[in-house]
Amino acid sequence: MDANDCIFCKIVSGQIPAAVVFQDEVVFAFLDIGPVSDGHTLVVPKEHIDKFDRASPQLLGQVASRLAKIAAAIQKATGCEGYNILCNNGRAAGQVVNHLHFHIIPRKTGDGVIDRWPAYKYPAGAAEKIADKIRKCL
Ligand code: AMP
Ligand code: ZN
Repeated sequence: MDANDCIFCKIVSGQIPAAVVFQDEVVFAFLDIGPVSDGHTLVVPKEHIDKFDRASPQLLGQVASRLAKIAAAIQKATGCEGYNILCNNGRAAGQVVNHLHFHIIPRKTGDGVIDRWPAYKYPAGAAEKIADKIRKCL
């Protein structure tokens, strides 16, 4: 999927309507059409980039500062007790729209929106091996 048939590019350009929360020269923020809590917002760079690791460090810095500003406004507006910032990358990780986006999800204690994930323990020695493998790829 490229920018021409990307639903988020169409939202950014105004071809598809959205409940706009914020926009400037770097990002566009709008309410998710399928919220998991009131105020669930998507923040996307205006530029079409498919995944987090394809964005430049400079852009990521610019987006991060907007995320902080918008998250603070969402907390104030919704009275949420906390929030998740979630970025799905790749189909296996639940990314459905191939335009980099960050979910800001307002949370209340016990809302059950995102519960504990199935954590496990590494067998002896495995953590060192995996950490070493990742270090070598950096
Ligand atoms: P993800 O699974 O991280 O790719 O999330 C994509 C999100 O985009 C989903 O939560 C959808 O509800 C949301 N979405 C898809 N189309 C629209 C739209 N037209 N307006 C607002 N949100 C949308
Ligand atoms: Zn796009």
